[in-house]
Amino acid sequence: MVDLKAQYNRIKSEVDRAIQDVIDNTAFINGPEVGAFANELQNYLGVKHVIPCANGTDALQIAMMALGFKPGDEVITASFTYVATAEVIALLGLKPVLVDVHPDTFNLNVEAVEAAITDKTVAIVPVHLFGQCSDMEPLMALAKKHNLHVIEDTAQAIGSKYTFSDGSSAFAGTMGSIGATSFFPSKNLGCYGDGGALFTNNDEYAASMRVIANHGQRVRYYHDSIGVNSRLDTIQAAILRIKLRHLDQYSAARRRLADAYDEAFGNSGKLVVPFRSPNSSHVFHQYTMLCKGISRDALKEYLEANGVPAMVYYPVPLHMQKAYTDPRYNAGDFPVTEQLCREVISLPMHTEMQEDQLQHIIQTVKAFLNS
Ligand SMILES: *Cc1c(COP(=O)(O)O)cnc(C)c1O
Repeated sequence: MVDLKAQYNRIKSEVDRAIQDVIDNTAFINGPEVGAFANELQNYLGVKHVIPCANGTDALQIAMMALGFKPGDEVITASFTYVATAEVIALLGLKPVLVDVHPDTFNLNVEAVEAAITDKTVAIVPVHLFGQCSDMEPLMALAKKHNLHVIEDTAQAIGSKYTFSDGSSAFAGTMGSIGATSFFPSKNLGCYGDGGALFTNNDEYAASMRVIANHGQRVRYYHDSIGVNSRLDTIQAAILRIKLRHLDQYSAARRRLADAYDEAFGNSGKLVVPFRSPNSSHVFHQYTMLCKGISRDALKEYLEANGVPAMVYYPVPLHMQKAYTDPRYNAGDFPVTEQLCREVISLPMHTEMQEDQLQHIIQTVKAFLNS
């Protein structure tokens, strides 16, 4: 699905030198690269604060802790997402309130969000799924009207840009109260292990998140609040500094590959290629199609038998997961999500696709469609 080895080979000398420098300096924890990376990412995103942490799941958790949510508070998120989003809500004793997504963008349906708001709602967590921003303008307006926080799950959409109706634009993760992202190796900006970060333009939230990520201590060995231990390793920060310089190129390579897939499958009548939102650029964390009138599972099996990896993100909606079953929710409650779980298939998507590999993928998919 991804080719991290080929990507590494292109920047190997730079990366190897950066890692060796960290080892030579032995500043493994909170070394200078961590702050330098945070500054560089701040400049790239045009956001006031970037707070590195250990992974994307921690980032979501720290955001919700910093905003002071109390057990029983309701947090609205999408039923079609990776589990981490709902997991941290539940872990903090908050109540995950799931809503359905749009059949075109796979992102939060703003009308469904509005219908789910109660007097216990404290936040909305849009997940910018597969690399495209949720519809932030109406979502932010709704949040403002009901005095709710917006925490953007930007794990799949770093570098994606949303354009508002007044012509202004902003990067994914910089529009809500807080944005949370992941540097898991296969994400669009991935390190060589685990990593994550928080984004905010609010000084108070930033200060609070820094304290929470560091055991709740403002001054060493004085703990003002219950925190967590969540740091980005210096080695990972050093690698991310290098990869950030290539992020635009990486996004462009992903987009070129998506264009080629679109061209190959857009008129097949059996596969629906990804929708391109007029309000958001797409950084194609995944290239995800819908199977119409053909068996998704048969296509996946055929591809795999012919040496083409394919994945289903996600096969089971959150409300049908054993850990998240809830008397409030039943099969059929989120028809779009449930349909997506039956129809989606993702093709290999990365920055290093070779022409012969691309042709093999396209021809294999076409052979199945014509069989
Ligand atoms: C990857 C991912 C996360 C979690 O990131 P980790 O760094 O693996 O903890 C959260 N939300 C979404 C949508 C993701 O894709």
